[in-house]
Amino acid sequence: MNTNNDEREFIKASNEVIDEFFKGNIRVFHDKSEFKKFWYKSKNEIDEHHFCMFPDCNQKAIKRSHTIQAEGPLNCVAENRHVLQPVFRDGFIILEKQGLEKKASVFPGYCKQHEKVFEFEKNKKLTSKKDYKLQIFRTICKEIYIVKRNLSLDRNRLNSYIKMQNKIFSEKILEKMHLKALNTEEFKVSKVETEEIQWIQRSLNSEEKHLELLESFYKNSINDLESKDSENLEYLVFRNEEIQLPVCLAGVAIAGGRRVGEKKYRNVPLILNVLPYDGGTDLVIATFKDNKDMVDAYTQQYFQNMNTHLEFLSIVETWMINGVDFWFLKPSIWENKDLKKQKNIIKKMNQLKYGIFTPYNGSIFDDLRKQIIIQVKMNLANGEYKGIEKIVKGYLKKEEKKLYR
Ligand SMILES: [Zn+2]
Repeated sequence: MNTNNDEREFIKASNEVIDEFFKGNIRVFHDKSEFKKFWYKSKNEIDEHHFCMFPDCNQKAIKRSHTIQAEGPLNCVAENRHVLQPVFRDGFIILEKQGLEKKASVFPGYCKQHEKVFEFEKNKKLTSKKDYKLQIFRTICKEIYIVKRNLSLDRNRLNSYIKMQNKIFSEKILEKMHLKALNTEEFKVSKVETEEIQWIQRSLNSEEKHLELLESFYKNSINDLESKDSENLEYLVFRNEEIQLPVCLAGVAIAGGRRVGEKKYRNVPLILNVLPYDGGTDLVIATFKDNKDMVDAYTQQYFQNMNTHLEFLSIVETWMINGVDFWFLKPSIWENKDLKKQKNIIKKMNQLKYGIFTPYNGSIFDDLRKQIIIQVKMNLANGEYKGIEKIVKGYLKKEEKKLYR
């Protein structure tokens, strides 16, 4: 046999194998659950040495930089120094118990020297504009770390899937050619774009796009930290000095909405923080300047028309369900819910079609909601809310219904 013949035979066998593959006679995974297993068992082989995320710093990062201060907001919601965070385990969301020091909100962020930049931590709450800017900056850094880790995980998935596919292809081709070995230098199994490859590729593409957005946030955030007179991002802070929420949150949400007078739907990326302190809670929103009008419309609708503290609860619950899954809850809030309610909340978190401009219609902070409802009813009876009694009563009804969802 000469090489030309070999090649012809190889091409023939290889085409037959590809045909059979697309007919479904040859498979890498026999069913969806095998693919799922492969997807979730894939390990991250990312280099665990990380460098400080401050610009131009080449020092090694410490292993555990907190996105949210352990002794500040996290400690405000902790019970026995623990909080609950939603995490993905084998494709399902569960609420995992995490210790304040070692786990909750940590990532390898900054070197020892730059850790000291977050000196506002001494106050246990944010006080100056610079504090908010730093808090937004570390939210972005944390997000970049997570997306890079996911990217590396997906790249590993793609490589190991292609290896598995090629191995099966070569075995089948050999079978057809009645050979024991193939000179792979000479004959390459052609790359076949299967559904699985497209699946992983889609995941990779969306992560790369998200990383681009985050890097732009990062650049602008650095500018805002360094320059005194110009700001590239818009920072909005809402302080509620009466309600200490039992949750901390820090992440990036993509909200969708229409600009007034425009038909086109646009994505509005927002950096969100919920930071409780002793006796109150700060909500922080940061975004690009050119989305300011959209964010203003949102805050006018939900923040400036606040008649009761119930609206405040709803905003944060919506952020948790339709916005950001990087949050830390007081454990008893979750543990006191029956299983049905827990499942319902997780189901809502899995519905990715809504953004934070669409209010969540259920309740997470049940006890707090009940307390505020009682208070509002008392205020109503005492003649408060003159002229808007009807609105407040209607709103109360809606809020009471949430308790059963
Ligand atoms: Zn550094």
